Amino acid sequence: MLNIYKELGIKNEVFDYCDNIIKELKPRFDKIDELAEINQLKVIKAMQKNNVSEACMLGTTGYGYNDIGRDTLEKVYADIFHTEDALVRAQITCGTHALALALMSNLRPGDELLSPAGKPYDTLEEVIGIRDSRGSLKEYGITYRQVDLLNNKDFDYEGIKEAINEKTKIVTIQRSKGYQTRPSYSVDQIGELISFVKSIKSDVICMVDNCYGEFTEEKEPSDVGADMTVGSLIKNPGGGLAPLGGYICGKKECVENAAYRLTSPGLGKEVGASLTVLREFYQGLFLSPTVVASALKGAIFAANVYEKLGFSVIPNSTEERHDIIQAVTFNDREKMIAFCEGIQSASPVDSFVRPEPWAMPGYDSDVIMAAGNFISGSSIELSADGPLIEPFSVYFQGGLTFPHVKFGIIKSLEALYDKGLIKL
Ligand SMILES: *Cc1c(COP(=O)(O)O)cnc(C)c1O
Repeated sequence: MLNIYKELGIKNEVFDYCDNIIKELKPRFDKIDELAEINQLKVIKAMQKNNVSEACMLGTTGYGYNDIGRDTLEKVYADIFHTEDALVRAQITCGTHALALALMSNLRPGDELLSPAGKPYDTLEEVIGIRDSRGSLKEYGITYRQVDLLNNKDFDYEGIKEAINEKTKIVTIQRSKGYQTRPSYSVDQIGELISFVKSIKSDVICMVDNCYGEFTEEKEPSDVGADMTVGSLIKNPGGGLAPLGGYICGKKECVENAAYRLTSPGLGKEVGASLTVLREFYQGLFLSPTVVASALKGAIFAANVYEKLGFSVIPNSTEERHDIIQAVTFNDREKMIAFCEGIQSASPVDSFVRPEPWAMPGYDSDVIMAAGNFISGSSIELSADGPLIEPFSVYFQGGLTFPHVKFGIIKSLEALYDKGLIKL
């Protein structure tokens, strides 16, 4: 084992440091394998129940009428998420689009959107109009309210109760921390928040941004009362194979509204050719539980490697996981960049390029992104990114196989070690 690592530029002391950590993690990894097994069977059960067949892989062109593969896939998603309906489309371009679509199609002028757990994901700021943007919800007369978390990061139930009013139509809850240093929420925590919100206003629509959360637990937010559960197919549920796409699973009316907005009023789910992506959507969904398990193991490994070196990590080395993201805070620009360079250099694709901090659309500071991907921008593949601002936290996620994530973390450590930024 050491020989092949040496051939890839890893020093003895870096390998030994990591190898000892991996050995200690075996019992936790066994639990993750059990989770993968449960979710794998959940996916197979849904595929069998809906008679997924060879014909479902073929796809359609033009209008996409009678697209049996697309329609069956939506039934499979609805069964996995235990929802009335689902919209799973290549025409949904990314996670932000899926979230924007869910919001724009279910809100009307005069309605209010409430975020009860602090600031939503960066790219949603422009969707909502927190940062002025053309076409934002704000431009259409939809107002926004936010209740920040308490200092101890708990939900501010008193504040939420006060914020809910006759205009409140949708409550948006983000499962994963995204680019923040708060914890990610467990499905049970989300369930408690939804119950509280509904106890105050029963007809409010609860939407959960499920990006990075799929298959990290046995339950999904839709199992605890979410009316819409929304995510990206170039994250967890695409299993690394989906080349694009997004999904909205939820109440029939909510999903129908989204379909009418995605295509056109009157047309809805009936149109939208799937072209040639269905096989990848199905096969990616099939692989997703084990891919997510690899990513989870990698995140836990990273937390243990960097926590033992004295860096602050969220989640910490022993915490339960509710998403695949691992944040490491470097408090140092150079260390953050070295980490990303290490991840990049472990990639199967573009291993020879060096990531540089850059201004990205949708983000208000320079961002560094390390990824050597088969699917551009896919963050179920091993990737690391973060805004280049204090406290220089890098958000690390993904990895289609555990050996690759392990190699990525070892390479990141090697990069820091070679530059004299850490001692082992
Ligand atoms: C990635 C992400 C999004 C946006 O998804 P894109 O596919 O990048 O547009 C939204 N919310 C969260 C929590 C995310 O992690």
